This record gives sequence, C-alpha cells and structure tokens, in this order.
Amino acid sequence: MNEIHQACEAFRTLLEEQLARIANLRADKIDFSSKPVVTVGVIDGDGIGPIIMAHAVKVLETLLADELAQGSVVLKRIEGLTLENRMALGQSVPADVLAQIKTCDVLLKGPTTTPMGGRMESANVTLRRELDLYANCRPVSIPEKNIDWMFFRENTEGEYVLGSRGVELPGMAVDFKVTTDAGTRRIARAAFEYAKNNGKTRVSIVTKANIMKKTDGKFTAIAHEVARDYPDIAVDDWYIDIMTANLVNEAIRDQFQVVLLPNLYGDIITDEAAQIQGGVGTAGSANIGDRFAMFEAIHGSAPRLIEQGLGAYANPASILKAAAMLLRHICRADAAARLERALEGCALTVDVGASTGAEYAEAILKAL
Ligand code: NAD
Repeated sequence: MNEIHQACEAFRTLLEEQLARIANLRADKIDFSSKPVVTVGVIDGDGIGPIIMAHAVKVLETLLADELAQGSVVLKRIEGLTLENRMALGQSVPADVLAQIKTCDVLLKGPTTTPMGGRMESANVTLRRELDLYANCRPVSIPEKNIDWMFFRENTEGEYVLGSRGVELPGMAVDFKVTTDAGTRRIARAAFEYAKNNGKTRVSIVTKANIMKKTDGKFTAIAHEVARDYPDIAVDDWYIDIMTANLVNEAIRDQFQVVLLPNLYGDIITDEAAQIQGGVGTAGSANIGDRFAMFEAIHGSAPRLIEQGLGAYANPASILKAAAMLLRHICRADAAARLERALEGCALTVDVGASTGAEYAEAILKAL
C-alpha cells in the first residue's frame, strides 16, 4: 500500500533526524557571574501576555536600574512572536525572530497561543528545540502546608518533540514518542545536581514504564544510572497515575522534594501542582539549556479572559516568579531575593471585581 510506504518513509526521516540531533548535543555553559553584558530578551506573547509582561518589565527595570544604566544588563525587546505574524508567515517562530532571540542570553517570555489542529507547532516546542532548552524547572511551594516541590521536566523529547510529525493513514493516526540516553542523562543530572546543591535528600522518578516499556523504561534506567553518582540522595519510582493522586494526598505529599519526569507527564502534573499552590497564575517556569534559558509563566495566553474584557484581572504573579528565577539564573541573587521576598509577603490577590493585576504589580513595586 502506498500510504504505508509513505508512513514508513516519514518514520525513517524522523529516526535519522533524531539520531543527528543527539550526535550534535553540546554543552557550552555560560558563567553569568563574570559575563560583562547580559542580554535579556523580552517577548510579549499573545492574549494576556502583553499585559502581564508590562508589569514584569517594570519590576525588572526597578530592580536592575543601576545595571541597566551602566549597560551590564540589557533588556532587548523582541517583536513578532505574535499569533497573527506566525500564522501569516506559516512559521511557529519566524526566522527573523529566532535570529533576534539567538543574540540574547536569556528570555523572559509571555505566553503564546497555539492553534488547535493543523500543523502549526507550538512556539514553545520550537524554542525549546531550537535553543536546546532541555530542563523545564517548575518550583511549587506552600510553606504553611510544608510543601516545597521542584519539578524537573524533560523538555526536548517525549511526545512533544515529534507531536506535529505524526502520520495519518485512512481511518487512523499515529504519533511518535522519543527518549534518548543522552537526553535523559542530562535532565537527570540537572535534577540530582539541584538536589545536591539545595540540601534536598530525595529525588522521585515518575514515568509510566509499566506500559511505555521502551521509552519510559529507558528514562527510568538511565535516571537510576545517574543516581548512582549521588549516594546521599534517596531515589524512588512512581507511575504518573498514582503520582497525580499523591499530590492531593495530604498524608504523603509533603515528603516529595525533587520530581524528575519525561515531557508529557511533567507538563500535566506541574499544572496540577500549580493549582494546589493557588492556581496556574501563581507558578513560574524555567526552560534551561547549557547556552540559552527561557523563563515564563506556567499558564497560557488565557484568550477567554481577553474575550470577556477581563484582561485587567490577569494575574502577573506567575511571570514575576519566572522573572525572579531569571535573576537567579544570571547570578543577580540580591535582586532575585528582593523580588522573592516581595512576592512571598504580598497579601493582595488578583480577583475579578476585587483587585487588578496592575494593583498587584504596584504592591510588589512598593515592597521592593
Ligand atoms: P490557560 O493557562 O491560558 O488558561 C487556563 C485557565 O486559567 C483559564 O480560565 C484562564 O483564564 C486562567 N488563567 C491563566 N492564566 C491566568 C492568569 N495569569 N491570571 C488569571 N487567570 C489565568 O490555558 P488554555 O486555555 O489551555 O490555553 C490557552 C492558550 O495558551 C492555548 O493556545 C495554549 O496552547 C496556550 N499555552 C501557552 C503556554 C506558553 O506559552 N507557555 C502554556 C500553556 C498554554
């Protein structure tokens, strides 16, 4: 059958591309403590993106006023990563936008809308692949409930990297999932290094290796291999279904510390964790590679909020947490701590009809 032949050819191309990708993985880390100029790219995104980003930029301008004046930090506005422009050009990240992005060291990015169906890839998936941002780190903390979780989600493999490359035959569709030794090793190393450097004593590996035997099986095996280099850190394995329940099980959830997961499970469970913390508007997210890093809110572009004329109530807390993570990443620990303290101490919550995002941002600016 011609369709089967075409599908096999498409699969062959995927395999060749993935093998080429892992053959080219490189680690060239930047030392931000000694870099004379750090360029922070600022991307508004879609929907509520421009609204929450305006608050975040104001906060960064306040915290980094001296460095911005001296030129040791540059905030570089990058235009063109809008849904309209992406659709018009038929590119998830237009080539000129990507070229601009690659002149930066780190990015603070507002959420971008991904059209449902079609072949347009999510801008995030493209950026994670193009910039090789392999570690998605998402902290969730609720001190009064003794919850302090850090999720390490693999960001460049799994179902997502090939999600727009599936094949269709009459009456059926097939997508692909990929897990590599090198890809798993580096995310596992990032999780264990984080645990070691932050006084954590436990890393929980979460997969569905009982069902996805090859891909998740490999993820688990390689993660355990890496764990052998960290004998002081306890390791346990969970399946994603029971782990989803564990996070709402008050009897055990405060025992989890660092959680290591492949891409799809990590994406889903971190929204659950953010909701437990107080909503998807409240969590930050870092996408970290060896050369580039991108920081963003955990939530999306909230198009319904805009359609309902409620953009003023978009909560900037998540993007501000991401900004604090960015400051830590570029070794601006004092500025990061000031922002973290202001966020922790802010009693105001953004609620429709009560307080707006602008009022919240004003309270944070005052507390700095
Ligand atoms: P969403 O996160 O945009 O919205 C989910 C719910 O949370 C909605 O009720 C929304 O109003 C609310 N919400 C989200 N952020 C909020 C905030 N800061 N303040 C107040 N309320 C907030 O998720 P969705 O509706 O599934 O996705 C919308 C679009 O965003 C989709 O196109 C999706 O692909 C995209 N998306 C982008 C990113 C990203 O760029 N990182 C992440 C997730 C989703």
